[in-house]
Amino acid sequence: MRLRNVPGSQEHIAASPYCETEPEKRKGSWQAFFGQEAPLYLEICCGKGRFLAEHAGRSPQINFLGIEKYTNVLVKAVQKQEALLYPNLRFARMDAEVLEEVFAPGEVARIYLNFSDPWPKARHANRRLPSAAFLRRYGHILVPGGEVEFKTDDTALFDFALEELPRAEWEAEEICRDLHAREDLLADNCMTEYETRFVGMGKPICYLKMHRKRGDI
Ligand code: SAH
Repeated sequence: MRLRNVPGSQEHIAASPYCETEPEKRKGSWQAFFGQEAPLYLEICCGKGRFLAEHAGRSPQINFLGIEKYTNVLVKAVQKQEALLYPNLRFARMDAEVLEEVFAPGEVARIYLNFSDPWPKARHANRRLPSAAFLRRYGHILVPGGEVEFKTDDTALFDFALEELPRAEWEAEEICRDLHAREDLLADNCMTEYETRFVGMGKPICYLKMHRKRGDI
């Protein structure tokens, strides 16, 4: 999601109490950024924040943090929170590549990946958010047994994600190639900006819930 340059977006997010622009300083103490102590759920590449704003309203007992690289997009998410004033919704401007510099081991309870960039060239495979390289990073910052939920309209990226699971020693808990045909899964589903657009075009949405393989005890 690239928007045209939004004048003042950088200054806006730097001044907002709801957005962290130096996230590595909060490593190990993200709880203090919220109005309450609660499990931390992360959306990586949150775009304009619609998904998290809806989740935060539905689940006040969870803290939601959206991370996004581009200020032109992130400013829209921050503006949503400036109107909502939820104690459990915050944002950080950062690159997904540096997750382990920003979150301590076990600091995150759940991760959402929604409509992330497909990086179609083979040489960029490690940049794809459901790649084994990223799954290993998630494994380091998640609580034991912590889950990752992934949604996409891109079937090639979805197939890639399924192939990466065993490489990273992860396993699927739910695999669905048409989320909007599954009433049981839809009950907890919050729509993202991209999802709204693709569903409107009649495109099926793929959904994968996964976790690190639980070793034998
Ligand atoms: N999750 C939103 C946006 C999807 S578009 C939705 O479903 O509507 C993908 C988003 O990822 C864009 O907003 C883009 O700016 C962001 N992005 C791409 N690479 C990133 C990276 N390395 N780190 C953080 N955000 C990134």
